[in-house]
Amino acid sequence: MNTVVVGGGVIGLATAWRAARRGVTVTVIDPAPATKASHVSAGMLPPGHEQLIGQEDLLRLCMTSRDLYPSFVAELEEFAPAGFRRDGVLDVAFDEDSMRSLERQRDLQESLGIRTRRLSPEECDAFQPGLAPVVGGLLSPDDGSIDPRVLNAALITAVEALGGTVVRRSVVRVGDHTVTLDDGDAVAFDRLVLAAGCWTHHIGGFPDGAVPEIRPVKGQVLRLHADPALLKVTTRAFAKGSSLYLVPRPDGELVIGSTYEERGYDEVATAEGISALIARAAKVIPGVGSLRFGEISAGLRPGSPDDLPVIGPTAVPDVYMASGHFRMGVQLAPVTAEGMAAYLTDTAPHASVVPFTPLRFSS
Ligand SMILES: Cc1cc2nc3c(=O)[nH]c(=O)nc-3n(C[C@H](O)[C@H](O)[C@H](O)COP(=O)(O)OP(=O)(O)OC[C@H]3O[C@@H](n4cnc5c(N)ncnc54)[C@H](O)[C@@H]3O)c2cc1C
Repeated sequence: MNTVVVGGGVIGLATAWRAARRGVTVTVIDPAPATKASHVSAGMLPPGHEQLIGQEDLLRLCMTSRDLYPSFVAELEEFAPAGFRRDGVLDVAFDEDSMRSLERQRDLQESLGIRTRRLSPEECDAFQPGLAPVVGGLLSPDDGSIDPRVLNAALITAVEALGGTVVRRSVVRVGDHTVTLDDGDAVAFDRLVLAAGCWTHHIGGFPDGAVPEIRPVKGQVLRLHADPALLKVTTRAFAKGSSLYLVPRPDGELVIGSTYEERGYDEVATAEGISALIARAAKVIPGVGSLRFGEISAGLRPGSPDDLPVIGPTAVPDVYMASGHFRMGVQLAPVTAEGMAAYLTDTAPHASVVPFTPLRFSS
């Protein structure tokens, strides 16, 4: 079986790797693999969020991916380091309303069997010196983060090591078991996976409605450097209904994000966006403004019509889709890749993947 994967972000690459692991011959086609949302992403792997309450299907998908992460990483590290850290996520509240949200999040996490510890303001200060005064916090010691840039590089290495090919071109059109590239070349496939993030529905050749529209939701991120590291663990700060996250890397890099902007395909990092992030971060960790500047970047989260992932066979024979992961693509890469690899080898995917069928948009 020759499978072509259109799009080499974390979703396309992880899918290609898991399929190759099951003996599928894979070709990933992308003009610039791992340079879009998957490159900008902070790579937080938080245990839960109050917003997941009542979203039973998404919650199950997140939990399955969380369970899969350690073995996914262990297998990937047979090829290259993956940048995974399970050293804790600290959530802190700066007002009473935010603390009440954290309490609901704690109830949710405990009902799912996720280890969670409520921290007093003093315990927050002792655990993470340098924080501005907080109302309270929640520590999830078994969760953490992954560096998406390290992860993407490992996935490319693994795909190629298993005999897969990465073709650095764009797919313009899909015909009968053939894709046409931007240089006019054609590549034949038995099965096709559309994993081109928020560009997925731009690929031509499909009947109307067969591929749901995936809208871009811009996010800006700031990378600073602290030596020694300023933060011990991934920290999410909640205040007045909004949140900010700070993700430390082992080399002292501190990733701070992010903005949410609906501005079409605008990928420009702006002074306004970044100054807002610095101002918010300084309220969480005073002194952050004096850190060494690293990078500003903007990426486009892929948002489906219902903001939920789209995973599985489409109405077009032999055409599959893995997109729409919005703000959770890195978190959901293992479960998506396993699900897609199952579909591509005619085996049953994990039950948590099934509700995310592209066919839910067909009617
Ligand atoms: C600021 C920000 C912070 C984030 N933080 C987190 C986080 O902490 N945790 C988390 O889980 N998620 C996070 N996300 C979300 C996550 O990054 C995305 O859900 C994920 O990267 C989506 O991956 P993807 O492979 O679907 O899309 P992308 O990474 O956008 O990849 C799509 C690929 O398709 C290619 N492509 C496009 N058109 C074509 C074509 N015609 N032919 C061939 N290839 C094509 C592109 O070149 C690109 O490489 C964040 C996102 C942003 C923007």
